[in-house]
Amino acid sequence: MPITQEQIDKFNDWVSRKGIKRQCYSCGRMDWGIVDIVAANSETGAGTVPMVLMACQHCGYIRFYSAVTAGL
Ligand SMILES: [Zn+2]
Repeated sequence: MPITQEQIDKFNDWVSRKGIKRQCYSCGRMDWGIVDIVAANSETGAGTVPMVLMACQHCGYIRFYSAVTAGL
């Protein structure tokens, strides 16, 4: 299921409250798109780790945040 606008709004609110810098670490621009929530399989057997995937729309740099910590 694709990420919903409600989840995007909630995530953006969380990012603002945490004071997370939106500048791209790679190119320095402020042009992020929230692409999706993805899950990585833990190598330790702890299950899956849901993450919000953000991609810089200029250079393609990708960063992740814990969807659980963000309350999604
Ligand atoms: Zn960038």
